[in-house]
Amino acid sequence: MAEICCQELDRHLADFVDGELSPELTAAMKSHLKNCNFCSELVSSYVKTIFILKKVNEVEPPPDVVVRLRHYLNSKLNM
Ligand SMILES: [Zn+2]
Repeated sequence: MAEICCQELDRHLADFVDGELSPELTAAMKSHLKNCNFCSELVSSYVKTIFILKKVNEVEPPPDVVVRLRHYLNSKLNM
């Protein structure tokens, strides 16, 4: 597969991080990242952002989950 450019890497970034690209494209992305500081910075900050978002979601579950959990705990405590 031919080398990809920075724009192509940017376009496929989300799928690359999710592991949803074809093996050929993944290999092309990796070889680009080895040679391009700009894109490796981009990928690492993207990965950090995703990681933080997932952390935040773990700490703050949707309100209905909190309500259900509280009901569950209350019913257990009242037994
Ligand atoms: Zn690049």
